[in-house]
Amino acid sequence: MYICGNPKCRKEIKVLDPKFIRCPYCGYRIVYKKRAPIAREISTD
Ligand SMILES: [Zn+2]
Repeated sequence: MYICGNPKCRKEIKVLDPKFIRCPYCGYRIVYKKRAPIAREISTD
């Protein structure tokens, strides 16, 4: 999963061709790899 680097777009990109990395929504060529949510056991009470 990637996130578009365009601050006005920021859409999630599920499939990305490694030869053609680009946001399919806005055409922005900088995308960030979305960090997988880390499952932690934290008590927040
Ligand atoms: Zn975009």
